[in-house]
Amino acid sequence: MAAKGNEVVLLMGPPGAGKGTQAARVAVARDLTKLSTGDMLRAHVGAGTELGRRAKAIMDAGELVPDDVIIGMVRSELEAADAIRFLLDGFPRTSAQAASLDALLAELGTSVTAAVAIQADDDELVRRMLKRAQEEGRSDDNEETIRNRMAVYHRQTKPLLDYYRGQGKLRLVDGIGSVDEVTERIRQVLP
Ligand code: AMP
Repeated sequence: MAAKGNEVVLLMGPPGAGKGTQAARVAVARDLTKLSTGDMLRAHVGAGTELGRRAKAIMDAGELVPDDVIIGMVRSELEAADAIRFLLDGFPRTSAQAASLDALLAELGTSVTAAVAIQADDDELVRRMLKRAQEEGRSDDNEETIRNRMAVYHRQTKPLLDYYRGQGKLRLVDGIGSVDEVTERIRQVLP
């Protein structure tokens, strides 16, 4: 079988838009390794590492973990990979992270394939997250944290959509509908 080429798909969107669920499905469908910075951080928190201890307070407040920490985590995963075939979930979230990702991929001789932004109304998302908080008991899913995560998204992450639009890589997807419907919409916008 011919080796598959490089592919780096970004899954972006406000908190609660279903990034994690869709990331898992898209990764399987396209044979990509899913890299979720949120999952990596939660693993550190669970394991009680020094990084986890520092990250927990920030995550519980709904703020962003410092760029250098996040970039370092992603860099080591990408550099260790045999093939650059990744689905990035929840990264980049700031313009510094986006610039570092571009530089890192350039060093590795590749670039972002597409940035998929799942879109949904804030109020609908807050309702969904409060429901998930009850079901999963995530410590960053209380109402105050949720509202702050939404504000942080609008302030720091949403401007990245323009960055990828400028590169001709932005793909907008309506996030309201069944999980299957949204997965199908994502499939349709990817090359
Ligand atoms: P997530 O599961 O992607 O919603 O991430 C949960 C929390 O982890 C976020 O609210 C942030 O505190 C932190 N986090 C995850 N990814 C990043 C990132 N790329 N940059 C900064 N903080 C992050």
